[in-house]
Amino acid sequence: MKTIERVCCISCGSNLTTLKSIERFPIYMGVTDEEAHKDIFADLTFAKCSRCNCVQLKNLIPLDILYKEAHTNSVGKTWLHHHASFAEFINKRAQGNVIEVGGAHLHLAKNLEKNDNIKSITVYDSNLFCYGNKETEKIKLREEFFNKENVSVKPDAVIHSHVIEHLYDPFKELKDMSDLIDDGSFMFISSPIIDEMMKDGFTNAMNFEHSYGVTKNLLHKMLRHCNLRIVEQSDFNKYCVFICAVKDSKDLQEDYNPVENESYYHKFINYHDTELKRIKSSLEKEEKAFIFGAHIFTQFLLKYGLDENKFVCVLDNDERKIGKRLYGTNLKVCSPKVLKNYESPIVLLKAAQYTNEIKCDIIENINSDTRFIL
Ligand SMILES: [Zn+2]
Repeated sequence: MKTIERVCCISCGSNLTTLKSIERFPIYMGVTDEEAHKDIFADLTFAKCSRCNCVQLKNLIPLDILYKEAHTNSVGKTWLHHHASFAEFINKRAQGNVIEVGGAHLHLAKNLEKNDNIKSITVYDSNLFCYGNKETEKIKLREEFFNKENVSVKPDAVIHSHVIEHLYDPFKELKDMSDLIDDGSFMFISSPIIDEMMKDGFTNAMNFEHSYGVTKNLLHKMLRHCNLRIVEQSDFNKYCVFICAVKDSKDLQEDYNPVENESYYHKFINYHDTELKRIKSSLEKEEKAFIFGAHIFTQFLLKYGLDENKFVCVLDNDERKIGKRLYGTNLKVCSPKVLKNYESPIVLLKAAQYTNEIKCDIIENINSDTRFIL
């Protein structure tokens, strides 16, 4: 597979300088039924802009390959709470015909459907029908990547949740969305805050799907570029922000070009250098251990130098993943229920913002003698 080279900064167009490359990283964050030799790898290469310091990946995976498989991750409590909160945030202002970009599971659309002021919700996503989604009187489904040329009804609002971090050319693509709406109409955004996630060592922050460092600073710059003025900003939590912005073509500030503080990237790398040593020494005395998460949490640690032979299997709560193989590794996925069969098993659990939810479930419902490396 040939990767797409990002030749200039997404934010200011200047040159990129390579910071670090993790060779042969699995391109897909999920599980597979295929044989291991079919897995595709690419170098995960972190770079930064020589002018504005924006951290971004240099190698990008062609979209049709990257999103070939639908995301079948289960939706935990954190996500359900997120969608309900974001819908509440949107409902304060949204009305008429709205477009949602992304949103395959329809969790957000179903929440918005209850709002009488919203006439229709058209959802654009390249994977929709695989989830068994059906159109309703209000919810219209368009199984395709969003493209402004294919929008037939002028929307009164554009909504997207956890989409902006997936865009390869975010300034242009966000502008395409804002071009669809008139002055006075709204865009509602839910975005992860990648720098905050990386500062706390989250391995699900920057990867082939999230290919640049979304910071609040950068979001503000993007919105100005698109003639969108923030009217409300609310932190869902430390790692996720909701923004409501209004289209205001008079609010042009083309010269707004703040620089990014890339110290979060160095903190992330230093943290993992130390963390790998600590995990290796904790596992030294153990004959076999378990590792949680048939996802990038595990792939990252293995690619960063942890020996996969140390683990019996990968644990994951998602029943659809059980019995399959974690992409890019030789590890099979099992339900955490297997921990019942072991006496004080040890689990390496580093699942970012989901860690606590998962740990409580294992202790309370599966095996209270489970030990954790967190
Ligand atoms: Zn730049």
